[in-house]
Amino acid sequence: MSMQLSVKSRLSSTVASLKPSGIRRFFDLAASMEGVISLGVGEPDFVTPWRMREASISSLERGHTAYTSNAGLLELRVEIQKYLEERFSVSYHPESEILVTVGASEAIDIALRAILDPGDEVLVVEPCYVSYEPVIRLAGGVPVFLKTSMENQFKLTPQELEAGITPKTKAIIFCYPNNPTGGTMTAEEWKTLLPIIEKHDLLVISDEIYAELTYGRMHDSIAALPGMKERTILISGFSKAFAMTGWRLGYVCAMPDLLAGMLKIHQYTMLCAPTMAQMAALEALRHGRADMERMIESYRQRRNFVVDGFRQIGLSCHEPDGAFYAFPSIASTGMSSAEFAEKLLMEEKVAVVPGDVFGESGHGHIRCSYATSMEQLKKALDRMERFMGKWSEATR
Ligand code: PMP
Repeated sequence: MSMQLSVKSRLSSTVASLKPSGIRRFFDLAASMEGVISLGVGEPDFVTPWRMREASISSLERGHTAYTSNAGLLELRVEIQKYLEERFSVSYHPESEILVTVGASEAIDIALRAILDPGDEVLVVEPCYVSYEPVIRLAGGVPVFLKTSMENQFKLTPQELEAGITPKTKAIIFCYPNNPTGGTMTAEEWKTLLPIIEKHDLLVISDEIYAELTYGRMHDSIAALPGMKERTILISGFSKAFAMTGWRLGYVCAMPDLLAGMLKIHQYTMLCAPTMAQMAALEALRHGRADMERMIESYRQRRNFVVDGFRQIGLSCHEPDGAFYAFPSIASTGMSSAEFAEKLLMEEKVAVVPGDVFGESGHGHIRCSYATSMEQLKKALDRMERFMGKWSEATR
């Protein structure tokens, strides 16, 4: 008899019980078809601006190929400190409160691993980015979901926050501007939540990866509010604002004791973020603002176009103030999100992400990324109009 164990039985029970990403499953299907227009992928459609690529190439030519310090190049941490202070009025010390990571993804992971003991609960405002739940579980924590709705522009109310808190609650993860809804929070709205966060002594993990992508007013960081820096782990990165997803570069800022804990994990598991990517990021912060603004202006035009377009074809859609996603309701069609997305893909070859992939409050919605060319967006909307027309004929 074979003594071979099955692959599943060798996996830890935590890993074995994780669900594969709902987004992946859908896109594997789309990738197997010809002529699909994808509004699915959550990444900029721009190539990284040349000045960042050139800075990285030139650093390689000069032979900068070794590890940097574990926390990242000090010059880069100094630029991050200046940038956060100038843009969002939050000030972290470059030597003891900033750590350069392998994308915001690593920052989320080490933040959770540094603070969680087994069974600690972490509040997650949903709909939310798909990684939070599995990463909390991998860190031994228990995710507790707080639901929001389109009627409330996907903002969390103090009552909803308070209702999720138990004696085991250790932290809450926020992501504003939000993936998948495009929702944002103003300083005034943050202030309604602060007394509860303070009363229950919660840590805040604030994923601000879309902070630069706002349309209308500047992003308000929760860390900038009185008393909040002390309890906030601020996470951001270069992927979205500077179109640098493939470079894998992000950062995390926190009080020295928390940062030292994260640095321990980072130095044993990563050593440091890629050196050539750090060189590009340095250039992005020093001279990349005009390039970034050009890209943001282009997202703004596309956002206006798709939101108007959805409304015209009968899908109600709240105005997304940030990121590059629209999250229209498809409830009026009577279809589930998955059914709508699957039919739209099969019949009209437009790929969107079913909203419930992002949590239960995403039921009845689809996520559409407008980080794709205007030409493709126009075609996608034409196809969706035809789809909605066919659907209303069929149900008449
Ligand atoms: N947080 C959110 C909300 C995201 O949407 C993403 C990327 N899709 C990330 C973090 C990860 O970003 P990075 O490329 O910096 O790891």
